[in-house]
Amino acid sequence: MSDLTVERIQRNNAVFREANERIRESAQTYAHELEHIPFLCECPVEDCVEIVPLTEDQYAAIRANPSHYMTAVGHEVAEAPVGTVVSRNDGYVVVEKS
Ligand SMILES: [Zn+2]
Repeated sequence: MSDLTVERIQRNNAVFREANERIRESAQTYAHELEHIPFLCECPVEDCVEIVPLTEDQYAAIRANPSHYMTAVGHEVAEAPVGTVVSRNDGYVVVEKS
């Protein structure tokens, strides 16, 4: 596995984390009644557009650990070069990346 791949995965992670933080803020501001917030899958597949609906609490639990990311079910395989699966849940997978 090349450094380039690792770098791409890491850059991708940062972009999605930022996007998802913005989604969470908007949901807090405009959509209090939403039970599930439509977050973006954080896997490194470039054309992935999978939406992962999570409750605020589920998302907060993932974010509580800075090395934890979430992906749609099945997308965790793309994380294999840098990540290990922490937990498999209903509709999403939590991956730990160093
Ligand atoms: Zn994905």
